Amino acid sequence: MDTTKRVIIIGSGLGGLCCGYLLARNGYGVTVFEKNRQIGGCLQTFSRNGTKFETGMHYIGSMDEGEIMHSLFKRFGLRDNVRLRRLDTRAYDVVSMGGMHYPFANGEEACTGELMRFFPVEGPALRKYWKGVRDVIAGSSLSSWQSDGLFVPPNYELLSRSASVFLRETIANVRLRHVLAGNSILYAANKFKTPFYFHAIIRELYNRSAFRFVGGSDQVARSLARSIEEAGGEVIANSPVCKINCDSRSAISITLQTGDERRADYFISNIHPGRLMELLDTPLIRPVYRERITKLENTISNFTVYIKFRKDSMPYLNSNFFHLSGDTAWDTDKYSEKNWPKSFLYMHLCSSQEQIYADAAVLIAYMNFNDVARWRGARTGQRGAEYEDFKLRKANRLLNALEKEMPGTRIRIDTFYTSSPLTYLDYTGTEAGSTYGIMRDSARPLETNPTHRTKVPNLFQTGQNTYSHGMLGVMMGAIVTAGELL
Ligand SMILES: Cc1cc2nc3c(=O)[nH]c(=O)nc-3n(C[C@H](O)[C@H](O)[C@H](O)COP(=O)(O)OP(=O)(O)OC[C@H]3O[C@@H](n4cnc5c(N)ncnc54)[C@H](O)[C@@H]3O)c2cc1C
Repeated sequence: MDTTKRVIIIGSGLGGLCCGYLLARNGYGVTVFEKNRQIGGCLQTFSRNGTKFETGMHYIGSMDEGEIMHSLFKRFGLRDNVRLRRLDTRAYDVVSMGGMHYPFANGEEACTGELMRFFPVEGPALRKYWKGVRDVIAGSSLSSWQSDGLFVPPNYELLSRSASVFLRETIANVRLRHVLAGNSILYAANKFKTPFYFHAIIRELYNRSAFRFVGGSDQVARSLARSIEEAGGEVIANSPVCKINCDSRSAISITLQTGDERRADYFISNIHPGRLMELLDTPLIRPVYRERITKLENTISNFTVYIKFRKDSMPYLNSNFFHLSGDTAWDTDKYSEKNWPKSFLYMHLCSSQEQIYADAAVLIAYMNFNDVARWRGARTGQRGAEYEDFKLRKANRLLNALEKEMPGTRIRIDTFYTSSPLTYLDYTGTEAGSTYGIMRDSARPLETNPTHRTKVPNLFQTGQNTYSHGMLGVMMGAIVTAGELL
């Protein structure tokens, strides 16, 4: 008799694949069902006229020997299967504000030194800032995982400290404060809600070392899927899960869109918690819990322009460029038709280690789902001329904003493509195309950080909504989720 415990994973995003990897290699019979043709969720890429574009994973940090991501990549068998290129160590990120470009250099000392060229008397404030960052790391799972491979539970005290309040109390110089928060599109920050925890983890992660994928982050998804299959599991694309069937005590099976039913001992959801509620019709989930989960606010979506440059015309920029159009890093998600975009992120994509010219770039700005909600009913590619016109207008607005900061860019563009919040909704299934899922609130850390356990005892959650978003947060969250079964 086959005694292998069977696990069904719903969704092949990074979280689902990492859980699948750990469980398949530890004797579980794993099947991952993915609704899309391409696996990977935010790790999906697409190609147009010979140029490849990333959609939702552009750069990662702490990949040098001994650093956290390096050890996680080793843990998931990725180290030799994913090609990376180091970003400029003197300016891995550049924040642009008020006509000035502020570089962020790798390493605490170097970063402080570079910033002090612009803010010569702010050394003591910057040192206080770094201490705050280090305190967060020391109190989080990152340090316990690195020192002895253990996870500590979420530190709700750290999660209840607001990023904007911390920066205001630590940094008196207003410009410096906003420059430090200038990369906040990386966590879709909200001035009144976002915990300092997210700011600190992201700062520390990239400040140690920062890398771009060479040839696309889909390498990560492909490598994980291959490992799952080598360990006897399956990763099945084009298979939306429509229902999770429960008896009076637990989940027993899932129903696919085809009507097929698949049974398992355990189930892991890699989809948005609100979406999960739609798949579950069971008294095990109380109405009050369902309502709380579905009413949680989500981070804002975004509009992206995918740029293909004319051959050998655009020098490769080995830095990420964060632009703030006003005098604040906060509230750039609160825009009007007239003043959009209030911020953007511009990154060249890397296709070889020795790249001299860029083939492609992405240009990303916040966008509310409401801006495109009127086209929600129509299918991808069939949204009509009005939608295409809307996207073209927005793309031109965004490209003009970039041209202002980087003159000479537009003339080097061969062609461009766009995606809107509707695209993100279609391709990742996050609520309203939300970029990073649930908005964490420092005033409500418990409610806005759903756990990997659910009210159905053999159904667990993984992915960006349960631990934290990004390569680091999702991988660590997958270890916690898979750890429930191992
Ligand atoms: C524009 C953008 C840029 C980003 N840049 C970076 C970056 O540079 N660095 C970084 O570290 N992080 C970045 N992130 C964040 C990071 O990509 C995500 O946090 C992470 O990849 C999310 O992984 P996940 O496991 O939660 O699942 P997701 O990627 O959300 O995947 C969920 C999967 O579930 C599938 N699914 C949904 N419903 C069903 C169903 N009913 N049946 C079957 N399958 C289903 C979806 O199709 C999808 O494949 C970025 C995100 C975005 C959107």
